[in-house]
Formats: sequence, C-alpha cells, structure tokens
Amino acid sequence: MLDKKEFEAELLGIFRDLIRIDTSNPPGNEAVAAKYVHDVLAKEGIPAKVLNSTPTRGSVVGRLKGSGAKRPVLLLAHLDVVPVEAERWSVKPFAAELSGGHIWGRGTLDIKNLVAMELMAMMLVKRRGLKLNRDIILAATADEEAGGAYGARWLIENHFDEISAEYVINEGGFGVVMDGKKFFLCQTAEKGICWMKVTVRGEGGHGSIPTERNPVVQMGNAISRIGQHSFPVARTPLVEKLITGLEKLNALPEGLTAQRVFTDEKCLVTHPSKLAKRLNAFVRATATPTFVKSGTKVNVIPVEAEFSVDCRLLPGASPDEMIETVKKLIGLPDVEYEILQKKPGTESRTDTELWPVLESCVKELHPDAAFVSYMSPGGTDSGFLREKGIVCYGFDPTFLTWEEVDTIHGVDERVSVENLTTGVLMLYRVLERFCT
Ligand SMILES: [Zn+2]
Repeated sequence: MLDKKEFEAELLGIFRDLIRIDTSNPPGNEAVAAKYVHDVLAKEGIPAKVLNSTPTRGSVVGRLKGSGAKRPVLLLAHLDVVPVEAERWSVKPFAAELSGGHIWGRGTLDIKNLVAMELMAMMLVKRRGLKLNRDIILAATADEEAGGAYGARWLIENHFDEISAEYVINEGGFGVVMDGKKFFLCQTAEKGICWMKVTVRGEGGHGSIPTERNPVVQMGNAISRIGQHSFPVARTPLVEKLITGLEKLNALPEGLTAQRVFTDEKCLVTHPSKLAKRLNAFVRATATPTFVKSGTKVNVIPVEAEFSVDCRLLPGASPDEMIETVKKLIGLPDVEYEILQKKPGTESRTDTELWPVLESCVKELHPDAAFVSYMSPGGTDSGFLREKGIVCYGFDPTFLTWEEVDTIHGVDERVSVENLTTGVLMLYRVLERFCT
C-alpha cells in the first residue's frame, strides 16, 4: 500500500516550484517549466526530452518503458496558465503560498496540479519497480490556453511518435462536491469551437445628425439578437445520459426534472444555481458575443463597428451550420465575417478497458462518489488527440466545490494539499492496475 507520507513533502516541493515559474500565456515562456520537469524526470532516471516549437515555447515528454505487450498510455497536462489581474488577488499569484491547508496561485487548479500529480505518480511507479505491460508517457505541453498551436498541435504535427498512445488521461474532468454529495465528472467529450469576428459597415458622419445606418446601433441590435437566441436542447445519447443520470442521483438543480430540462427552453438559463448555468452549456450549442470595438470620438459616427462571437457546438454538429445560424441572427446587409478558429466537438467511447479502472479507483478513494461521464463546454488538448483516433478521458482527480471551480481563470485560485496527495494515490492506483 502506498502511503501519502512517502511522497507528500516531495510532491509539494515540485508543485510549488512549478507555480512559481510564471507561464502566463501570452507570452507563455513554458520552456523554463518544461526544463524543470525534464530535470525532475532525468534525476529519477526516466528518459525525457524538451521539444521546443520556438526558443521559449517548450513542451516536455518523458517515457517509462514497459514490455510493449500493450500500447502506451499518455499522461497529459499543460504547463501554461492564463494571465492574472494581480491587484484583485488576496495573495501573490505566483508565490505558491501555503495557508489554511491550501496552496494558492495561478495554475493550482488549471492545471499544474495535474502536471505535479502525474509526474509524482509516474516517479512512484518507477521507484516501486512495477513491471509494466505498456509504456507510460508523460507530456506537459505549452500553449493549451491559446489553442495549442505551439504545444499539443505542434507536437502532433512534428513529433507524433513521441506521444502516440492507446489512451490519454488529461484535464477536463474532475470531482465535484455539492450539497454534501460527491460526483466525479469524467470527461469523455468536449464541445467544438467556432470563433468569429464580425465587422458591420454603415454610414458615418457627425454625431449631431443621426442615421439609420449607424453601424454602432446596427451592431447593438445584432448583438442583442444573438444574446437572446436560445439554441434547442440537443438530445444526444451523451446529453440524455447525463441529465437522466443526475435526476436518478437526485442531483439536478432544485425544482428541475429531466423532462423539464428537455422541454422548457429557459428553465436552466433562468435558474439561480451555478450548476444550472453549466448544464445549460452542456445540453445545447451556444453563441456568446464577447468583445466590441468601434468609434474614436464622442461626436463622430464611425463607418464601421466590430464584434466577436464565441460559438460552442456539440460533438457531431457542423461548425458551418452554426456560422449560417449566426449570420441569419445578425441579418444585416453590409457585414464581413472572419472565422478566427473552427474546431468540431469530439467524443470518446466508454466501452473500453480503461473506463472501469478509472471508475473503481475513484470509488476506492471516494466511496460516496458517483462516477458520471461528462462533456466539458470548453476545449482541451484532448480534442486534437481524439481526432487522431486516441481515446481520451478528462480525469483530474481533484474534488472541488463550484465556488472553487469559479477560481479557475479567476481570482484566488487554490488547491488543498489533501486533494493533491489523494490525487497522486488515485493516479498511482490507475497506473498500477492498468499498466501491470
Ligand atoms: Zn487547462
């Protein structure tokens, strides 16, 4: 049996070092963190290499050899983090302070926690001399937060043999504690992305002489049409399974039934709970206006106005259909569209050898937790690997409240030491069971 005391101090040391390496993306600068992980692996006698897409954008790949009887499993996580608004934090975001049983800082939940846990679990497998029937690969990548062009996507295009595997364990799914109940949301799918820039052209002129073709007004109307549009609930097997599963566990937001979620358009979006907001993003496509830009002076009507729309689609849905829908909602005569990014949603099957192993390991460490398959509304590096035919599961063994989940990309992000150590126990168990 593995005891936390065996690795806790070492794990916290590695984790806090990683948090202190500022990998805010942009600009990223992940090469420093990649080198750090490389050196930890090398010291342990695990062969590793840093692969740089540019001099400062590095990813690291390490490999623990097995007999080769089965194909490898890839432990994946990213090294970059999103930028901080330091003045809103109650601690220094890159100091990795330990207080109240938590380590605080940017990346503690997204997702240097998983980097450290995967790294520690892999080292323990090596140290304990497990006889592996497959290779265990660890890849900590650059640039996930900005789309992966300098990280996972670049690795797949240039060094696929280094990370090619039968299964991937990555971020995207995690444990949730709500109303005293525990759920493990194991990510099997993620929504697709379609990001658009829209330029509305109209008639400029003096601010004292209004015109119907004022592009700012036209843009405002278009934005409000998009904002008020509700896409229908997509009753795919994945959606049905999650909603009816939550109903059986008595875990739908208060007052809601599966039937109502499927038939009452607005019941999720108008419900006050945080879970309802998330479920709303789960059951349907969404189109969200984000930034707007126009004008230079208070008394001048500009000739054009620009805004962006962040569209998210369910696996199986076509980005082009989404684009057509948004164009119809905009419905203006003189508009130019630029597609900034277009990526379909992806899904992995669950009738695999790994799925029941993940479920049993969660239940052994959290006997009261329900294990459910989940689709994340945002994208991860798993999208690229699923497109290569690899089965990917989002399996970050951290249990959080929704309030804690909100600190991801937000303020005062922190993780409990308990979560980190139990997470290592869980990942170690998965590797022991699945790779020997
Ligand atoms: Zn992440």
